Amino acid sequence: MEKKALEMQQVYKSYKKIDILQNINLSIPKGAICGLIGENGAGKSTIMKLIAGTSYVSSGNIYINSKDVTQGNHEERRNMGCLIEHPTIYKDMTAWENLEIQRVMKGIPGKECIDEVLKAVDLQSSANQKAGKYSLGMKQRLGIAIAMLGEPEFLILDEPMNGLDPEKIHFIREFLLKRNKEYHTTILISSHILEELGHMATMYCFIHKGHILESITKKELDERCRQHIDIRVNNVQQVCAILENKLKISEINVTDNGKIQLFEMMETPEIISRCIVENGFDLYELAVRQETLENYYMSLLLSAGD
Ligand code: ATP
Repeated sequence: MEKKALEMQQVYKSYKKIDILQNINLSIPKGAICGLIGENGAGKSTIMKLIAGTSYVSSGNIYINSKDVTQGNHEERRNMGCLIEHPTIYKDMTAWENLEIQRVMKGIPGKECIDEVLKAVDLQSSANQKAGKYSLGMKQRLGIAIAMLGEPEFLILDEPMNGLDPEKIHFIREFLLKRNKEYHTTILISSHILEELGHMATMYCFIHKGHILESITKKELDERCRQHIDIRVNNVQQVCAILENKLKISEINVTDNGKIQLFEMMETPEIISRCIVENGFDLYELAVRQETLENYYMSLLLSAGD
């Protein structure tokens, strides 16, 4: 059976009687990279804080490695590295000293891990500079380095690519992917740059106003986003029958809002339109489409309404 790194069951969170999260059910298998997607204020950081144990649920349960940590079992969180909202950085200390203090606090043996994470975020040459003098992007990279100390089994990264230039984004992404591949590190990562998440995630969790709209694997998403033909007609059922019988199309889907989707004959849409019209139906729209992660998210938001 697939092992779970994280399981959230019917989690609710409220601050001063205001509901922030409602009925959150999220399951992340070990070794997965879960992209957490949601608008500003959706509740992404709150979910991450509950998992990291810096905030507590109002009700529901959280399991890490199948152990119930709802009541603050920090032992299971020792193998976790987190960057949530702003990195905790002592401005009067150098980057190296910041990492050393975190290493000692986390009880990680050996100082070698410091050079390793500094290299991972490309900060070796400024390791002895005071962190207070760092640029925004450098502080962010130091925050990522702190999260990565001690090769954690589970990384929680809230907008880690914030303020980084494209080259650094690429560099850090490759490192995270390497960690995931070599050490089977589970990663929960949020970003507003959906394309960025698309390069990494093996599953996605879409959150909107404190609710999970959908949790879906990359494979399922790719399947839903694959190239297809969208058709709008005056009689959905009869047109589907005509397409099946006359054109021998078997892969037909009808969406909740009455759109026909075909996954065949992508190269010859004119044959489809002719068939529909010649059989006496009204054709309102026919378009070859390939959804992107962004389109998919936008249509989820649209169907969620408000
Ligand atoms: P962003 O993309 O802007 O970082 P987010 O999805 O991470 O947003 P959260 O930071 O989790 O959103 O906030 C979710 C909601 O909870 C927001 O409405 C926020 O105002 C509220 N909230 C967060 N922390 C607190 C707190 N300590 N007290 C009261 N409300 C809070």
